[in-house]
Amino acid sequence: METKLIHINENGTELTAQEESGLRQAGEIIKSGGLVAFPTETVYGLGGDALNPASSRKIYAAKGRPSDNPLIVHICRFEDIREIVSELPEEAIKIADAFWPGPLTMILPKSRAVPRETTGGLDTVAVRFPSHPVARRLIECSGGYVAAPSANRSGKPSPTCAGYVAEDMAGRIEMIIDGGQVGIGLESTIIDLTEESPRILRPGYVTQEMLDHVLGKVDMDVTILDSDSGRAPKAPGMKYRHYAPEGRLVIVEGEPEQVVAYINRHVEEDREKGEKTGVIGTTEVLEQYRADVVKCIGSRRAQEDIARNLFSVLRELDDEKVASIYSESFPEQGLGQAIMNRLRKAAGHRIVRLPAEEGDSRPEG
Ligand code: AMP
Ligand code: MG
Repeated sequence: METKLIHINENGTELTAQEESGLRQAGEIIKSGGLVAFPTETVYGLGGDALNPASSRKIYAAKGRPSDNPLIVHICRFEDIREIVSELPEEAIKIADAFWPGPLTMILPKSRAVPRETTGGLDTVAVRFPSHPVARRLIECSGGYVAAPSANRSGKPSPTCAGYVAEDMAGRIEMIIDGGQVGIGLESTIIDLTEESPRILRPGYVTQEMLDHVLGKVDMDVTILDSDSGRAPKAPGMKYRHYAPEGRLVIVEGEPEQVVAYINRHVEEDREKGEKTGVIGTTEVLEQYRADVVKCIGSRRAQEDIARNLFSVLRELDDEKVASIYSESFPEQGLGQAIMNRLRKAAGHRIVRLPAEEGDSRPEG
């Protein structure tokens, strides 16, 4: 299959006639059962008609995603949610008032309109109303309900620009809409509203504190905070290896000087074994690293930059064929919860906590 590429100006407002006609064409592709990748404020999504079971099956096939891992249904008007859920609790309306359109997904009981192919066999449905103008217009042109997981091959870091979508999806889908670099860079926060009390299943840009503020105390799924909880995560997707670069990634936690010293020592050892080495570091200590490839993820003082750069840095390390990667660790406050959740998964939970015994410290997990 040939994948058509179209461009839309970065902020997606005031579309030219040509851009508008491109989006209409994209909408027709989705309505007739095809797939289109498009920018959102979080990461690029791979969109198909959420109410068409055949489209959902195509999404799983294009991504190589296990079919028990449900898709998020994207809408472009709040009212449209009523068609796809069978209950709309008070909390959902409060959350929508506070955070929609925006980077937040709610889990609710599904209506009969939503096929089980879209929900991975579950009776619940994940719903998001994105704020990105191109995403909203595309959803409108596609009939209003677009199932869209991140537009990467399963297991790879989510794409933050159209180039990375093309790397994974060219030849597998009908169209890619290039809307430039995304703003947030991490996938939406997921909150489950189907149990007794609301619970965060995946941390994201909308933080626990922000949700606490609107709903009172909101819990975090234990499997997010503790990889050894022995329990299955409620969001099926959270159990899979994810976001992983090809190289072996180890997170190193501790005081900055210790971290730099540990990483430099291990980089040296790995290089002696013939491996190409890489480091993910912050501006503050970047020039002290001795690895073959040193990637700047941003300043320790700018969490939003770290979030935005994380997935592209992982992809760049793959592009440079780095075999052994060390990353600094980040404080787990606010957006830091989402950053560390993705980074830990990318590392397959290999974490070194300093100070460890000199010489023989081994990554956990
Ligand atoms: P992605 O589409 O790549 O952003 O991943 C979607 C995430 O939402 C996965 O982790 C899914 O497991 C999760 N998800 C989607 N629908 C549901 C649902 N009905 N219940 C729980 N988690 C869900
Ligand atoms: Mg994904």
